[in-house]
Amino acid sequence: MIRRFCLLCLAGWIGLAAASGQDRPFHVLAFYSANVEQDHVDFAMQAIPFFQAMAGRDRFDFKATSNWNDLNPSTLKQYQVVLWLDDAPSTPAQRIAFQNYMEHGGAWLGFHIAGWMDNRQVWPWFADFLGAMFYGNSWPPLPATLTIDDPTNPIMKGLPQSYLSPANEWYSWKPDPRSNPDIKVLMTLAPSNYPIGFKDTLAGGDIPVTWTNTKYKMIYTNMGHGNKILTSPIQNVFFENALLWLGGRSK
Ligand code: ZN
Repeated sequence: MIRRFCLLCLAGWIGLAAASGQDRPFHVLAFYSANVEQDHVDFAMQAIPFFQAMAGRDRFDFKATSNWNDLNPSTLKQYQVVLWLDDAPSTPAQRIAFQNYMEHGGAWLGFHIAGWMDNRQVWPWFADFLGAMFYGNSWPPLPATLTIDDPTNPIMKGLPQSYLSPANEWYSWKPDPRSNPDIKVLMTLAPSNYPIGFKDTLAGGDIPVTWTNTKYKMIYTNMGHGNKILTSPIQNVFFENALLWLGGRSK
């Protein structure tokens, strides 16, 4: 009788622990393309094992696919978080499925080229979702000092006020996402970087690199060009914080 009572206690404790959310399992589906710009593929090929290792450590489920037709309602309902590592959907069906997913509680982490769009007519909903429009870029890829806009944000937990982000192609934006009241900027290129680039130069101005649109559960980050992105232990903390926040946990 006593033994049975204790088992019930244990079951109740496990239930409470699960309900706290810290260990609640969630499912992540990462989309990538293998036939895009090589520097973007290089990032995706490193990001997949990086997030797989994180999944083992943080107890979530991670799967990667190069089939963008998996952006459909029946597949998406199995996943709490979607990643776009080096590309974006190209068909109306894929785009509508993603829009519906995000408008009904889905979560998204987009890297670098995922936010590239220089004409809002291509996909107006996405332009509003991202809250910014690509304007220019630096070249070649170079490291840059990033400043943290809000150190109290859980996505920035454990990061210093500024850090050196590994070599990346940096984008500028027009309109600036900071001018959108729904956008909360999380990281910005520090003024000390300017001018950055040789062939293509970003001369100055306000250039956010990571932000969230508060109307959705989403994070866009401009990192994602080349094979150096995941070499900073500091920046890697951000990637882990970001994914866990999107999955409903904060580390
Ligand atoms: Zn690039």
